[in-house]
Amino acid sequence: MALEFDLIDTYFKPLSQGLSVEEVGIGDDGAVLSVPENHQMVVVTDTLVCGVHFPLETSAYDIAWKSVAVNLSDLAAMGASPGGYSLGLTLPENDQAWLKEFAKGLRAITEQFKIPLIGGDTTKGPLTLTVTAHGWVPNQQAILRSGAQVGDLICVTETLGDGALGLKLALNQLDRGFSSELSELEKQALLSALNHPIPQLAIAADLCGLVNSAIDISDGLLADLGHVLEQTNRKQHKLSAGLILESGAEIELTQLPLSSSVEKYITQTHDWSPVLSGGDDYQLCVTLNKKNWPQLQKIAQQSGVRVTQIGRVVEQKGIFCLMSGKPIADEFVKSTGYSHF
Ligand code: ADP
Ligand code: MG
Repeated sequence: MALEFDLIDTYFKPLSQGLSVEEVGIGDDGAVLSVPENHQMVVVTDTLVCGVHFPLETSAYDIAWKSVAVNLSDLAAMGASPGGYSLGLTLPENDQAWLKEFAKGLRAITEQFKIPLIGGDTTKGPLTLTVTAHGWVPNQQAILRSGAQVGDLICVTETLGDGALGLKLALNQLDRGFSSELSELEKQALLSALNHPIPQLAIAADLCGLVNSAIDISDGLLADLGHVLEQTNRKQHKLSAGLILESGAEIELTQLPLSSSVEKYITQTHDWSPVLSGGDDYQLCVTLNKKNWPQLQKIAQQSGVRVTQIGRVVEQKGIFCLMSGKPIADEFVKSTGYSHF
């Protein structure tokens, strides 16, 4: 359809800036990219489906921002510096007002993180977005999930649970009594965490060589920390022929970094699920040797990203939640992360 090309020229081609003269962005059959010397390419993909990953009424601007942000968050978790992204866009109709807002959202994140849009595909169907982003890490420096070590400190960036509480707010699922206690500013912050997550790229590249493992929290702290332990244990199985030490984690709930809204919510409801299993955090969870903690604090300060110690990697399989040092009931922890199937 001719309209498809108009649409690409009008809305997407202008976002293809920032490539070097040797590189090719939108307009040919494929993009051509140069790999910086002594670096490896990291590639990530994430799909957002309307009604599954964002509520139907989400604005086009927010959808655009989030579809790119969640991919940049994956790059951050690998310790990569972002290089660019491509966009697979399935649209139910050619709605110019919607597209204009959508392109504005893309422009905002494209400019903030200086990443060109390098290509994509446009089709007709139920609203779905697939972004593939790429970035660069120095050779052999990518941070993997599988690198955790027994004794490592477990740390997270910023605060947890805001996106999940934001979703409850957006879907009108919060108790009236509770939401009336939130200030307008607090409500805005929760919705912003949901719709406008900030990928932690400000600190990501500096984590290479400093932390042993990393993951971005998209399905909830317990589920994602679980993935780190699972990959770590799998690697240990591969490496050791005989005796295998399975590692687990101990998390101190009173140390989890919470915004004032999430703190109020927990005080009232005693429901920790937005923090432990809510999803939509897009914060980093890293494990590191204790000796690197001062350096991590220094980096955190320089980059303006809050980093908090929340627990440690232990020699016992499982994730153990403590409240002021005391183990808490099993049923409490059974809330696991979001699963699609
Ligand atoms: P082809 O027919 O070779 O698949 P297309 O007609 O799909 O090419 O796309 C033409 C150009 O526009 C390509 O460079 C492609 O990468 C780019 N493009 C198509 N859709 C999008 C999109 N949604 N976002 C960014 N670039 C796009
Ligand atoms: Mg082609």
